[in-house]
Amino acid sequence: MIDELKKEIEGARRSFGHELESIQSPEQLAALKERYLSRKKGVVSQFLARLKGCLPAEKPLAGQAINQFKEFVEAALSAAGAAGFAAAASGAWDDPSLPASELPVGRFHLIADIQGRIEDIFLQLGYEIAAGPEVERDEYNFTKLNFPEHHPARDEQDTFFLEGHDDLLLRTHTSPMQVRYMLGHRPPLKIISPGKAFRKDDPDSTHSPCFHQVEGLLVDRGIHFSHLKGTLEAFCRSFYGPDIVLRFRPGYFPFTEPSAEVDISCFLCAGRKTDCRVCKGTGWLEILGSGMVHPQVLRNCGIDPEEYSGFAFGMGIERVAMVKYGVPDLRLLYENDLRLLGQFG
Ligand SMILES: [Zn+2]
Repeated sequence: MIDELKKEIEGARRSFGHELESIQSPEQLAALKERYLSRKKGVVSQFLARLKGCLPAEKPLAGQAINQFKEFVEAALSAAGAAGFAAAASGAWDDPSLPASELPVGRFHLIADIQGRIEDIFLQLGYEIAAGPEVERDEYNFTKLNFPEHHPARDEQDTFFLEGHDDLLLRTHTSPMQVRYMLGHRPPLKIISPGKAFRKDDPDSTHSPCFHQVEGLLVDRGIHFSHLKGTLEAFCRSFYGPDIVLRFRPGYFPFTEPSAEVDISCFLCAGRKTDCRVCKGTGWLEILGSGMVHPQVLRNCGIDPEEYSGFAFGMGIERVAMVKYGVPDLRLLYENDLRLLGQFG
């Protein structure tokens, strides 16, 4: 009796295995479970019902064999259910012949993407990338860049000074890299320096205590304003579009003289739409600051302004992103909401 039962259990185990292999859907899996484990008519219950017919001496062994089979069936069904769960959730069962499901692909953050594209354009123009430290010396951030002693930017209200280190601060612009580079290299110099800068601004739609800049510096013999104009024109047309027109307005920066704010014609409407979302109908977009390197800055960095001249320019990457893509609030760029970031890059 017991031998016969054991043989039958072995047979049931094999057919269960075959049936499990051919499962195609969660419904089929549930039906298989019902067939084997249902209390009334399940295969396991039918085996248990036959215990009554066993001799008393055979009962423990028969019971053990049936229990082992039951545990095997339960474990196999549970494993198959877990494996199939992910597939079932996406609407497909575990079919290894199907093409792999698409995984989300990472991309650059908009800020990094724009920085990379600006870098590419200047690399093509023969510039080098010079990255510098974010914790900077007061001397490089202000003094050598010709900031007067009592310039408002040097105030603790505006700048993050490092506690216990009067000479150290979080750089307020990437311009100190100009100083570092001029101190370490002889002209001709042609660099851009991208990176983070920090100011004590309360976050609002156009300000953030941490932001990104790209600055450029070129120093050589016989450099004048037309070189600056030509360079910025080449950059803006490459970045914003071939028909962009530039407008230079007088500006003021301690480290350049003369200084100019640069506007570009609206790349969306070219000034033809009064309700343009990009230029608000003005036809112009403020995008960067620039100027000829102040002779005192050259002198501070050991370069003779009688022999050399140069130009410098700088732009905020967040500002570029907001202008180019119509991002209405700078803070959106830092909230890392993938619904926004997924639209770019
Ligand atoms: Zn416009």
